[in-house]
Amino acid sequence: MVSHFPCALTQSLKVLVESNKVTLAARFYEHMLADPNASLILSHDDVKSRLGSSMQAWLVRVYSASAQDDFLPLVALQKQVGEVHARIDVPLHLVLSGARHLKKQLFQLIIEQHWSAEAQAHALRLSSESMDLAMEIMSHAYSRSHDRNSRNEEGYRLFSVLQNITTERERQRGALLDWENSLMFDLVMGTSGINLPRLSTSDFGLWFRHKGAYAFQNTPESEQILQIIRTMDDTLLPGFLAAKGSEDERMRLLRDIRDQTKSLMFNLDSLFNTANELESGRDVLTRMLNRKFLPVVIGNEITIAQKAAQTFSVLAVDIDHFKTINDNFGHDAGDMILQQTAEILSGHSRAGDYVFRMGGEEFLMILVDISSANALKVAEKMRRKIEEDKMQLTDGRKYRVTVSIGVATYNGHPDYQHLLRQADQAMYQAKQSGRNRVVAYDELSSN
Ligand code: GH3
Ligand code: MG
Ligand code: MG
Repeated sequence: MVSHFPCALTQSLKVLVESNKVTLAARFYEHMLADPNASLILSHDDVKSRLGSSMQAWLVRVYSASAQDDFLPLVALQKQVGEVHARIDVPLHLVLSGARHLKKQLFQLIIEQHWSAEAQAHALRLSSESMDLAMEIMSHAYSRSHDRNSRNEEGYRLFSVLQNITTERERQRGALLDWENSLMFDLVMGTSGINLPRLSTSDFGLWFRHKGAYAFQNTPESEQILQIIRTMDDTLLPGFLAAKGSEDERMRLLRDIRDQTKSLMFNLDSLFNTANELESGRDVLTRMLNRKFLPVVIGNEITIAQKAAQTFSVLAVDIDHFKTINDNFGHDAGDMILQQTAEILSGHSRAGDYVFRMGGEEFLMILVDISSANALKVAEKMRRKIEEDKMQLTDGRKYRVTVSIGVATYNGHPDYQHLLRQADQAMYQAKQSGRNRVVAYDELSSN
């Protein structure tokens, strides 16, 4: 395309863009940030500080591809930009509208130059076609990524609804009854001066808010359950505490609490009844989640965290010297160690947490609703548990296995790859500094 235009002209356009890159980039983001959705995604400090300069660099790249050689890397760059946008969910129409405003600004600049009429006409066409082509490649990459994500998302939802329905149902019924029991115990003992066990942070509440509501989304039962959780925590429990003097009022509230809990159980049963058992999406060896669901799950957690101003943490767990286990005791023994490690990780996590097998001897955990200090404690507990629970080999012998864990906590950055890289770096540091230890990414960066 560029070869259709005079060389001097491409050069002048490049110089023009270069010397106005700051204004042009600012124009682009001005329009995007006016949109509330985009500003939620783009207002993170890290993103903000990098956006301006990367946008400027991008513009210069787009308008300096004057030879065939420059073109292929530019296409690769556009594809990458498209994939990142899809990953962090920047709506495509906003990017296109940003590009339109930017083009307008560029046209204005060209018209203000004292170029010949012919040169201006060429410059207008070249600037427009370059931008359109860049957007075309980017949108293509964007929609391909998006399609892939949607397919995974659908797959995950189906899987999480249907997998192991009987076990999950019993587990969640049990969790709900546990909460009710401890509430009743507190009420009867009168030890409940200030705190009553909140439903939303009980095992059941965590499971439902993070997994159940997602798996059963857009069903009336699910809406109902979320509503009951809110009413319980925001109205009934505080109401009960406040109604200290009035026995009648307390009895009335107690009945309400019981009725709401019954209704919760009823809705829960109804949700599980609509689903059938189907097993897929789990790693065959360890029964942990397949990594293909990671983008969907972590994307979902980012949305929850953004809305509720909460954090979650990612733990990159890697077995130490696993190759030696395989080499010394055989592959089957290695497999048994993998299964036992997975059991410990999932057995000591809460109902809302996730364990993925990333491949080989690497696992990834997502701890929901947690501060970074507590995530570090949980990681340390996991590490110790694995070290202390000697694992069984094929011949019945016991073997001491250790893991290295890297911890990173969501800090508002919209691209989940960023978080995964941080957890990996921390895990790598744990290996470097002697293995069998936990390292937090925060500690790395402050050193
Ligand atoms: P480090 O402490 O640095 O993590 O060393 P390592 O030996 O654990 O790590 P390395 O990456 O060198 O070796 C991982 C080994 O895991 C190599 C591979 O053969 C083995 N492996 C990968 N998948 C499986 C599996 O499904 N079963 C078994 N038994 N072994 C596996
Ligand atoms: Mg490894
Ligand atoms: Mg390893």
